[in-house]
Amino acid sequence: MTASTLFFIIVGIILIDFLIDKVLDALNAKHYNDPVPDTLQDVFDEEEYEKSQRYKKANYKFGIVSSTFSVVVLLLFLFLDGFDFVDDIARSVSDNAIVIALIFFGIIMIGSDLLSLPFSWYHTFVIEERFGFNKTTPKTFFFDKLKSWGMMIILGGGILALIVWFYQFAEDDFWWYAWILVALFSIFLNMFYARLIVPLFNKQTPLPEGSLRDKIEAYAQKEGFTLEKIFVIDGSKRSTKANAYFSGFGNEKRVTLYDTLINDLEEEEIVAVLAHEVGHYKKNHIIINLIISILTTGLTLWILSLFIGNPLLSAALGVEKPGFHIGLVAFGILYSPISEITGIIMNYLSRKFEYQADNFAKHTYKAQPLITGLKKLSKNSLSNLTPHPAYVFVHYSHPPLYKRFRNLLG
Ligand SMILES: [Zn+2]
Repeated sequence: MTASTLFFIIVGIILIDFLIDKVLDALNAKHYNDPVPDTLQDVFDEEEYEKSQRYKKANYKFGIVSSTFSVVVLLLFLFLDGFDFVDDIARSVSDNAIVIALIFFGIIMIGSDLLSLPFSWYHTFVIEERFGFNKTTPKTFFFDKLKSWGMMIILGGGILALIVWFYQFAEDDFWWYAWILVALFSIFLNMFYARLIVPLFNKQTPLPEGSLRDKIEAYAQKEGFTLEKIFVIDGSKRSTKANAYFSGFGNEKRVTLYDTLINDLEEEEIVAVLAHEVGHYKKNHIIINLIISILTTGLTLWILSLFIGNPLLSAALGVEKPGFHIGLVAFGILYSPISEITGIIMNYLSRKFEYQADNFAKHTYKAQPLITGLKKLSKNSLSNLTPHPAYVFVHYSHPPLYKRFRNLLG
């Protein structure tokens, strides 16, 4: 195979991926006006339904513009030998492969983030604002960006530096070392996410005293879950949308409830949502996901090790001097169809887990308050009640609402 053949395969993958995505979006958009399923008739009144239709369409148009922009930029970058240009800059600074890789990815990451900045600004301060969701101030928006860059530089940079170093001394066997590193890191991050990462962005407080706390305590005690593991987070700092999630394992396990959820839902509904989250814990969903992600990481790194030494990868991107970092970019694109498929499998699994957590809530608490609670959450976030099945299959980590209700009522 020649470098130019591989170049066109890379371009082909980018284009096909983009087209499939746009076809799915269009299919989904065609179903915006479908009749609402019987069980969901009372989610919206007429005015709110109109509003949800406008919200879906605004997001659909925004998605077309922003994704077209990114794919055009990426293709221009490829055709104009952008990777070679950035590689030259990195190599002009140092001869050290680790420093070169850090500068190279630093420029690519920060550059692409800056290019997408106007889009995320527009999404937050125009679309979300127009529909009454946005609570983020420009200051919060700005500091969120800085903090996530800081995290990317420290964590991403640290891991990248170590992996390049492994490659320097172990060559094709580097993947073993990289796998152990990434596995340990993801176990650590999964465990301490709530303790180390969340506080950078949000305040977490224990449940306040009162009737809600009493109701939750009664349920939690029955299920062997202590109140010290339940936190309230100030989600209202950024958005009116509500949420709840389970994170961590072992001694670090916890359920986090958004303050917006506590404001929007009745006490029984909140306990039902909490019961759903406890279900994720009881059914070991976090640990299963973690094991699967560690296994797929191992597979990816092993396949990477088979190709990374091939100078064709660098040549395909128009870079004469082969380098680990360029090979990584080319491999990343060539591998994307496989990661799309693993993504679809993970979403399928995640939807199964949602049913299991719903069933847990139904059997250990009640189905009815979970149903009314989920209705309120859907109403308040102007959810799409009629997604296309193909779109759900690829993108949804949660089953569509009518299917969850059918399961809860069955
Ligand atoms: Zn869930």
